[in-house]
Amino acid sequence: MSARTLLGRPLAEARRDALTSGAAGFEARTGSAPRLAVVLGTSDEAALAYFRTKQRLGEKVGVCVEDVRVDRPTTGRIVAAVRELAADPSVHGIMIETPLPADVDLRAAQDAIPTEKDVDGASTLSLGRLFSGQPGFVPATAAAVMALLDGHGIELRGAHAVVVGRSLVVGRPLGQLLLARGATVTACHSQTKNLAAHTKAADVVCVAVGKARFLGPDAVRPGAVVVDVGTNAVGDTLVGDVDFASVSEVAAWVSPVPGGVGPLTTVLLLENVLQAAETGRP
Ligand code: NAP
Repeated sequence: MSARTLLGRPLAEARRDALTSGAAGFEARTGSAPRLAVVLGTSDEAALAYFRTKQRLGEKVGVCVEDVRVDRPTTGRIVAAVRELAADPSVHGIMIETPLPADVDLRAAQDAIPTEKDVDGASTLSLGRLFSGQPGFVPATAAAVMALLDGHGIELRGAHAVVVGRSLVVGRPLGQLLLARGATVTACHSQTKNLAAHTKAADVVCVAVGKARFLGPDAVRPGAVVVDVGTNAVGDTLVGDVDFASVSEVAAWVSPVPGGVGPLTTVLLLENVLQAAETGRP
């Protein structure tokens, strides 16, 4: 069997047009573009690259994506930067690029983002709203996985979905979104015994672990749908958590890296910025 590819790029491009005209309409009415402030308290290369990806897309679609650099970051300095942005009516969305230094309290910093500007759904309140089924911004990567599955007509109701990874950024919110759509969800992590027995039982496997080519064909049921959230730098190339070539021999659908979840993530994030600008709420 040779799997079909879950392509994120065409779906992202299709959404980009609506985003571009929405942002242009907002600017025409108000005199300024929707604005996302990204707090940068890191010199981590991958984090800076993620920021530049957002900024480049922002330039294309008419959303202003600006960096707010915090030198010698401490919890106090990051929280102060977030509070200043929260009080600035010209800023519609705020997010904090990670990783921050280990001694910075990321949770406290994210919780300083008001829900109406929390476009990446990172605060305790936004996550609580997601987990309790109330409207709110949803972490963009988790939402991107759902958009990728929906965009290819993958049926989730009654499906057994296994999510590998339980971070608050990806794994846990994704599990909630799948559950809300009627999937039966298993959450796996580093302490899971016999991981392959779980993933092999799944109709849909989503992998967000952060280990290059972690999931191989022996851990996948023939005909399954496999979504690769991982982004790992191997030399100069970006590879996913799934061994794409060999898993493609077994699965029915596999998402590539790059070109799968990633392009949708950035578009969905900027859609949230436009929504925050337009309505002042999620
Ligand atoms: P993370 O916070 O490091 O979480 C990794 C998760 O994987 C943890 O829950 C960990 O379990 C689990 N894990 C680690 N080793 C494992 C093993 N051997 N078996 C089973 N589970 C294991 O990472 P993250 O922020 O969720 O990101 C995950 C990946 O997604 C990374 O590659 C990241 O770059 C990528 N990512 C992509 C996008 C995008 O837009 N495409 C956005 C965000 C992140 P424990 O909880 O037990 O430690």
